[in-house]
Amino acid sequence: MVCRTGIVVAALLIGGSAAGPVVATGPGTGAGQQASDPLTRPLAVERESTWLAPRAPEKIFGTTYLVGFGGLSVALIDTGAGLILVDGALPQAAPRILDNVRKLGFKPGDIKYILSTEPHFDHAGGLAALVRDTGATVVASDRAAEGLRTGRLGKDDPQLAYDHSFPPVAKVRTLADGERLTLGNVTVTGHRTAGHTTGSMSWSWPACEGATCRTIVFASSLNPVSAEGYRYSAPTSAGIRDALAQTYATMKAMPCDILITAHADQGGATGRYLTEPGACRALAEASERALAARLRKEAAGTAE
Ligand SMILES: [Zn+2]
Repeated sequence: MVCRTGIVVAALLIGGSAAGPVVATGPGTGAGQQASDPLTRPLAVERESTWLAPRAPEKIFGTTYLVGFGGLSVALIDTGAGLILVDGALPQAAPRILDNVRKLGFKPGDIKYILSTEPHFDHAGGLAALVRDTGATVVASDRAAEGLRTGRLGKDDPQLAYDHSFPPVAKVRTLADGERLTLGNVTVTGHRTAGHTTGSMSWSWPACEGATCRTIVFASSLNPVSAEGYRYSAPTSAGIRDALAQTYATMKAMPCDILITAHADQGGATGRYLTEPGACRALAEASERALAARLRKEAAGTAE
């Protein structure tokens, strides 16, 4: 379900991010206290052990860190005037994300913004708990904000039929494509990269060590994966096709020295992020190939 494309390169670079693998809701690995907390109550997910595989928090470059997991990426930026988090993984992941923030010597209460890449449970499920526990404001595209505020998939989401929900986020600040958000000495830019969801947004910011600066990109999942029965070739999917085309152009053109993908388990040999030149372009091209393969299947009548 996660890797329906069956294309190795696509799987490596795009990430699963399907909303499909939830099999039940109930006390999973979090158990105990978390089971009674509606915001961190574990979602039982087929790939939980991969997605939430423990990883020590680590510095990427400058004051940017990773505080997520083997499968799901969560980034932390120290701006000098507060912290910015990117994505929130699953509901049950929230306490572990905050533990990783503390392990780096930071205070969760200093997190001012949480940037969201997409309104699906695997990246946004933990946001409500993180907001409650830090006082931070979630930032997302306008379309993503609709999903985050309801905790449900948008009506034009290719995975709508899965009908998965997650704890909603009451207050979301929206950012338009190309709009910037500044906190302390860091300015983050939002890039509309819709297609996997209609609200998907990738984020970029400069990270510096002395006079050396790198542009870090935290890319949303670009995986053209859908619920069964959805057809990317259908006339009603024109908006998604157009969005993906625009997303590919955006990803290929943006400065991109260090790439973090929303699904870190598909991050390639270097592990949790990519520093190869052209990594963002390669990510877009892998998605393009996956979409082309999917459209061929639909034309042949062999798509699920
Ligand atoms: Zn997704």
